[in-house]
Amino acid sequence: MKFRLRNFFLILVCFGGGSAHGGLPSPHLTFSAQAGEFSRATEDYKDIWDKEGPRITATLARVSGLSFAENEISVIVYEGASYSGGLNEPIYLRASHSHEVKKEALIHELGHKMQFDLPLTPEIDLHRALFLFLYDVWTDLYGAEFANQSVVIEKSRKGFYDYEAAWNWALSFSREQRAKILSDLIQDKNKDHFVDSQGNRREDLNLAWQNLGGFFAEDRPARIGVKQKFFPFGNSRFNCETGEIFINASVPPGNSFTELVTHEGSHICLCVLTNKFNLQESSRFWDEGLATLLQYRFKGQEASYKKRALALASEQLAHKNLSFDLLAHWSTYAKNSSGRINDFAYGVGSSFDYFIIDTYGEQNLKNFLKDLGETQNFAKSLQNIFHTSPEGLEKAWKDSLLQVHSKENL
Ligand SMILES: [Zn+2]
Repeated sequence: MKFRLRNFFLILVCFGGGSAHGGLPSPHLTFSAQAGEFSRATEDYKDIWDKEGPRITATLARVSGLSFAENEISVIVYEGASYSGGLNEPIYLRASHSHEVKKEALIHELGHKMQFDLPLTPEIDLHRALFLFLYDVWTDLYGAEFANQSVVIEKSRKGFYDYEAAWNWALSFSREQRAKILSDLIQDKNKDHFVDSQGNRREDLNLAWQNLGGFFAEDRPARIGVKQKFFPFGNSRFNCETGEIFINASVPPGNSFTELVTHEGSHICLCVLTNKFNLQESSRFWDEGLATLLQYRFKGQEASYKKRALALASEQLAHKNLSFDLLAHWSTYAKNSSGRINDFAYGVGSSFDYFIIDTYGEQNLKNFLKDLGETQNFAKSLQNIFHTSPEGLEKAWKDSLLQVHSKENL
């Protein structure tokens, strides 16, 4: 059960490395005895695994929401304290355990093998984090009696780690509470989300990641690459194929840099949410509109931006320069003859997103975008989520903009 100090060190190295872990359903385990005298115990462990391996790993994955980082794990049976080893290191299991305790030990160490990516907190150490799901895994596999008995056995192990305190802590919560604490930890894991071209985490951009989380939540990709480049026009770009964003090399780090990261990061998240439907020429207006809206939300200037966006849109409507037909040709609509972006275009796009938010609520905007990911059809998703047609929605949007205009004239 003991997690030796040198393995703690290896675990920490894993966290720092930021390597992308696959999300493997079930690793392949190879059992060997450290010495001939442990061959019977080794057979016993192997037997458990052969009979119940798939059920054990499926239960671990289901209850924890975590996955294995290793395809192959070698297990060495010996006479000493069981421990899980670091990434790509063998699991060591004690030979002299009874059959039932062998199950307990094997599942305990496999649980550790799912923790490499999981951050710890001052309150939640390695074992507390494990116990947030281990008890419930045991219960689902072999029932409450087995789980309770295993807890008694682990509590009795005295050494440099206080298992008893950790178990008391974990079992002071209900199953639902444990699951919630664990899922919050897993969310934390996703906070360091931007990586540079060397694969290093850009923790300075965590604020942008959290900001995106406010809208996209679980629809953020695991990681977004951030690169710097020189552009003749504009300050930033994105590429959904590679999941990368590019910020003009002339932009210094700081608030305006993070703001551009929020904008371009929104595009990447929208690629995930809509299954790249946002890249269609006819989608660009609401895609740029939402990216800009979230950019100003990050800056804390959303209220004044919204006012400006609605004013720009109502002005374009008055000049008969606002309709789904016109917006469907975004590159013509948004760019002027010298290749620069018309200042009204993004505002018009945002005014459409604001119309949806004000009429149906922000959650329904998200539901609509998600539905687009499935239908890949604007009219179909309008029907599915808002029970309206493009014509009906366009008229309602324009009517709302006419009111903006008349209010301004008052
Ligand atoms: Zn954009």
